[in-house]
Amino acid sequence: MLNTPRYGRKVRNAYREMQKKSKALYECPKCGKKKLKRISFAVWQCKSCGATIAGGAYQPNTEAGLNALRIIKG
Ligand SMILES: [Zn+2]
Repeated sequence: MLNTPRYGRKVRNAYREMQKKSKALYECPKCGKKKLKRISFAVWQCKSCGATIAGGAYQPNTEAGLNALRIIKG
């Protein structure tokens, strides 16, 4: 998607960083266990209690999404 020459290296690095974060497990706000996994765009599911959370596209919270938008817009 963003892996094209028309985007700068800074954005590609940010995108790679987001992908890395999107694959990590996060703390579930319901049961507190680090089992929250991204199952779809902005959808997160806890592998422990089964809770499904709609959050940021690449992280359960939206802070990273806002930062990413700021980077892309320059
Ligand atoms: Zn849970």
